[in-house]
Amino acid sequence: MVVSDEPKTVAEGDAASKKAAKKAAKAAEKQQKKAEYKAGSGQSQPESQEADFSEGRYGVLKLIQSTGEHRDRVYTDVKDLNVKMDGKSVWVRARLQTSRAKGKQCFAVLRQNSSTVQLLVSVSEERKVSKQLVKFTGNITKESIVDIFATVAKTAAPVEACSVRDVELAGVEVWTVSAARAQLPLQVEDAARPETDDPEALKIRVNQDTRLDNRVLDLRTPANQAVFRIEAGVCRLFRDILTSRGFVEIHTPKIISAASEGGANVFTVSYFKGSAYLAQSPQLYKQMAIAADFDKVYTVGAVFRAEDSNTHRHLTEFVGLDLEMAFKHHYHEVLDTIGQTFTDIFRGLRDQYAAEIATVGQQFKVEPFKFLDPPLRLEFPQGIQMLREAGVTVGDEDDLSTPDEKLLGRLVRAKYHTDFYILDKYPLAVRPFYTMPDPTNPKSSNSYDMFMRGEEILSGAQRIHDPEFLTERAKHHGIDISKIAAYIESFRLGCPPHAGGGIGMERVVMLYLGLDNIRKTSMFPRDPKRVTP
Ligand code: ATP
Repeated sequence: MVVSDEPKTVAEGDAASKKAAKKAAKAAEKQQKKAEYKAGSGQSQPESQEADFSEGRYGVLKLIQSTGEHRDRVYTDVKDLNVKMDGKSVWVRARLQTSRAKGKQCFAVLRQNSSTVQLLVSVSEERKVSKQLVKFTGNITKESIVDIFATVAKTAAPVEACSVRDVELAGVEVWTVSAARAQLPLQVEDAARPETDDPEALKIRVNQDTRLDNRVLDLRTPANQAVFRIEAGVCRLFRDILTSRGFVEIHTPKIISAASEGGANVFTVSYFKGSAYLAQSPQLYKQMAIAADFDKVYTVGAVFRAEDSNTHRHLTEFVGLDLEMAFKHHYHEVLDTIGQTFTDIFRGLRDQYAAEIATVGQQFKVEPFKFLDPPLRLEFPQGIQMLREAGVTVGDEDDLSTPDEKLLGRLVRAKYHTDFYILDKYPLAVRPFYTMPDPTNPKSSNSYDMFMRGEEILSGAQRIHDPEFLTERAKHHGIDISKIAAYIESFRLGCPPHAGGGIGMERVVMLYLGLDNIRKTSMFPRDPKRVTP
């Protein structure tokens, strides 16, 4: 086709270059056809002039725009493929993790969440698998989403590299549903390699920043697929267990007018003509819900800390699992409820998430989490005593340092065989203003922390529900009373005695699995140096 209003080139007019131009136009046409086909014509493109007996059985699937086509097609999950299906035909939609075409065969690995299966596409006239189909499969970019129609085939020997070992798929149709178009910044296979000290293996280890910069790819590893399913399990179990105990889920504001626990560590945000803060905890609001007669409440939501803590266990935004409960006479009514809730969560994880825990264990060194039922409860002075016996110098009224907490965790594990315990009766001086003092010891308080593998995962206490006493304690802590007037006011109308606590979700998952960094259990972590992606 001659396009007359095209600008003329110097070469035109000369016969030889006319030939060249014709050739170029032909090439462009071919390119255009290829592009149209790529854009989703739904037609398979024969790779050569050779008769293709697989035509219509492979290619780039037409862009799915919900026309209703193939709606009744049934797909099988990779994890469900098994020997009982030997000889059956199935449709599978999965990611093409790897593919390697060699002569008349293409070996590929399909991955769906934490499960992988081997795919073999080999030339067979009888099964209408052409050379072109095999070549097409070998050329699909890694991480593309594909639809495969295949026969399930029992394998002679277990496929060690895949999670589905006793069967493979013999593909007869291969369609690209969504191609991975960009260059992969990391290989999912590399990101999924088991943690090891082997120097050779360390060379291909993907470092944490690369992972987090490319989190969407990193999250596709089997271990990450499992970690975040376990995390969902922690939240579900927390909700289910507390709901069955008569708790009500509430939602508290995240934009607040006054810092919950004094002015430090709080993010200020502009709020129309003024400014506001991001909530450091739902503390005051869950207590107000108790004053409003909800008796037992919990909430799951974002908590913000403007702390420049660059550690393995601090985030600037994390998910708080918070609860608060009215009691009749003793805050141990609440302490027992919280302790039992943890035991039930640990049991639920162990029993309902065994497969996911095992998957995490294939990449990371996971030691099974030990717990007791009922959980172990020690008093702060007992903890101090154990540390002193181990040679640590620590004062009666000092808070525990992080290394001391870790050491105590190891001592407790050795003596009581548990990775979870409660430490009750903290010194009053190290707790927030709203903590109820211990009536029998003015230096102690009705407060507690809970630990997993020697790291704090919950802080809690009986709260002061008497407005005058609360005002006195706030003043003692140098808090501007006018800023917490609404909070104190809510106790002037009568409020039941109550206690509660706040738990960090990411820490629970990290410590339950024995992982070494909280960024591994936050899907899109926020820390002092990272606010993207
Ligand atoms: P830590 O002493 O470990 O910094 P904290 O005493 O500030 O914690 P609390 O304010 O009592 O912690 O919060 C209750 C729970 O919330 C903690 O036990 C922990 O599980 C979680 N948590 C607190 N701060 C963070 C943080 N920066 N990142 C992730 N989780 C946190």
